[in-house]
Amino acid sequence: MIIVPISVPTPFYIGPVNVYLIKEDPLTLIDTGPKTREAIEALREGLRRERIRVSDISRIVLTHAHEDHCGLARSLRDEAKHAEVLVHDWESGHRVGRLEHEQHRALLARAGVPPTEIDAMRRLYEQVRLYADSFEEHEYSSLEDDAELQFNSGSLRVLHTPGHTPGSCSFIREADRTVIAGDCVLKRITPNPVLSPDPIDPTKRFPSLAEYLVSLARLRSFAPTYVFGGHGEPVNDYEELFNRYLRAIRERQALVMRLLPKTGATAWDISRELFPETDDVHRFLGVSEAVAHLDLAKSEAKIQMELAGEREIYRPLGA
Ligand SMILES: [Zn+2]
Ligand SMILES: [Zn+2]
Repeated sequence: MIIVPISVPTPFYIGPVNVYLIKEDPLTLIDTGPKTREAIEALREGLRRERIRVSDISRIVLTHAHEDHCGLARSLRDEAKHAEVLVHDWESGHRVGRLEHEQHRALLARAGVPPTEIDAMRRLYEQVRLYADSFEEHEYSSLEDDAELQFNSGSLRVLHTPGHTPGSCSFIREADRTVIAGDCVLKRITPNPVLSPDPIDPTKRFPSLAEYLVSLARLRSFAPTYVFGGHGEPVNDYEELFNRYLRAIRERQALVMRLLPKTGATAWDISRELFPETDDVHRFLGVSEAVAHLDLAKSEAKIQMELAGEREIYRPLGA
């Protein structure tokens, strides 16, 4: 089973995304790139180098439903005469008609984001979602944790590795412990635990950072030899990366706790302290990061939180 990485440009800050061609019957793409002309051209060119046409693809597997990864899935599927599309059920918030307006607004309001900022984030989001087609419920199959994606000569095992998003999945070729990990593992940056509704109870927040730590440890239990990420180069020393991520997360948690005043603060307040210069989508990612760390610290009984109206106020213990 040959894994061929194809670099596809995106209009996003993160830069190009990695699409993986599994050059084996049934011909499979893991992720697709965003819905832009530049992306489809780069993908076609990458496939052409392997003497493959889009119409030869019979399976499209998505690590998660962010626009840079899933944007082209629908048009590729149509061109490939209805290739099967697979994505984890917990990507629902991102998959069908995208995030519900009210759910998202409620999550941001609870984090203390002012209404004008929520409106600005919403407008940005409306732009970003143009880079992907959404799917109806009957148009894809669900990726199940521990299932095998069968190929002519071997298989990839599905590992549900939530954190970056609730339904993020990785895929392991157990013969040599090679992993394709989407945005769960990125060589140069620690992936953002994006603020998402809990797929089981959308009125709650998904405990993204706590889940992410479990996912990182689960990947570690397979002792991966080689990890292909969603962006950038592959990782050939997962153990080093695992320790580096853990350190970065603990350092960030310590900083967040130092920034927390005795009088209390919202996640939005903390995000403005952490990232004073940011604008655009980075304000959303900043508040995502602050919420994730505050939630983790609270679940570890290191800080307290109470509701003031609809806003959540975090405080040091004993304050
Ligand atoms: Zn992503
Ligand atoms: Zn990505």
